[in-house]
Amino acid sequence: ICDYENGAWHNPRIEPLALIPTHPATMALHYGQAIFEGMKATLGQDGTPLLFRPEENAKRLNHSADRMGMPAFPEDLFVEALKQFVALEKEWIPTQEGSALYLRPFMYADEAFIGMRAATSYKFIIMASPAGPFFSRKIKLYAEKKYVRAVNGGTGEAKAAGNYAAAIRPTEYAKAQGYDQVLWLDAHDFNYIQEVGTMNIFFKVDGKFITPSLSGSILNGITRMSVIDLLRHKGYEVTERPITMDEIKAAHAAGLLEEAFGTGTAVGIAMVEAIGNNDFTLTLPEANPVSHMVNDTLNAMKVQQEADPFGWIVPAQ
Ligand code: PMP
Repeated sequence: ICDYENGAWHNPRIEPLALIPTHPATMALHYGQAIFEGMKATLGQDGTPLLFRPEENAKRLNHSADRMGMPAFPEDLFVEALKQFVALEKEWIPTQEGSALYLRPFMYADEAFIGMRAATSYKFIIMASPAGPFFSRKIKLYAEKKYVRAVNGGTGEAKAAGNYAAAIRPTEYAKAQGYDQVLWLDAHDFNYIQEVGTMNIFFKVDGKFITPSLSGSILNGITRMSVIDLLRHKGYEVTERPITMDEIKAAHAAGLLEEAFGTGTAVGIAMVEAIGNNDFTLTLPEANPVSHMVNDTLNAMKVQQEADPFGWIVPAQ
C-alpha cells in the first residue's frame, strides 16, 4: 500500500489485509478514477517466487493512469513492491500445474470531494489471492451486437474499472444465453473484432495466426504480446491487423478456421469452442493442438521447467 498526497507517493509498506475507511464523497466512487492490473506469481523448481514480465504491468498501469488523469506510479517501486510482497507471501503460491498466486495491483482516487476534476490524493494497493487452473474448460463467445465496450478515443486501452462496469450487463446477458464471455465488436457496424471480456483473441486460419491490431480501443494484453512472440519463435506466422466477423464466418464456411483462443493473465489460454449469438453459430474443430502447445509452454516457463529465451521470468528475491 502506498499513498499519494501533495504531488508525490509516500510511505510504501506491507500490511495485513484491513478495511479502508471510505468517505461517502471518495472521488473514485463518483467519478471512476480507478485502474488496476492482474498478474500471477509462480514458484520455480528451487522454490524461488517468480513474476511474469512485471515491468510490462508497471508500464500499462501508468498508461491507464495517464488516460484517467491519475499520477504515474514509479515503475521500479511497482516491481520492487511486488517482489517483496510475493517473497513474503511465498507459502500462498500454489504449486499445481496452471495454478498461481493472483496479484491485483490497483490505484484509485481516495480524496473526499464533490466536483468533477482530477483528485489530489490516491492510494496504490497490491492484493493477492491463490488461483487455480482454467485451461481444461473451453469457452463459448457471444458476438455482441447491441452494446460496445470501447470506442475510438474512449478508455478501452486503459485498464479502468469503468470499462468493466460497462461490460457487466452484456456479460450477464451472454451468460444467460449459455455463453461464457462476450466477444466485443466495434462501435461502427459491429463487425470488426476487438477482444473478449477479459482476454485478447487469436484465430488460426489456414495455418497462420491473426489477432486484432491494437486500435487504441483494446487492451494491450501482456499475454497477447507474449503469445505473439512465442508463436513466431515456434515458427508460426502471426499478423496483427483489423479482423472482421464476416471474415471469420467466411473462413469457417471454407473450413479454414482451425483454432481460436483467448489470452489473459487470469485464464492463461482459453480454447474457443464456439462463437455466435441469436443470429449465427460457428462451432470450432475439437482439436486445439497449438492452443495446447502455447498453454503448456507458458505454464512450463512460469515454473522454470522450460527455458525462457525471452527473459520474461523475473525472480522475486
Ligand atoms: N482484455 C481485457 C479487457 C482484459 O481485462 C484482460 C485481462 N487483463 C486482457 C484483455 C488480457 O490482458 P493480460 O494478458 O495482460 O492479462
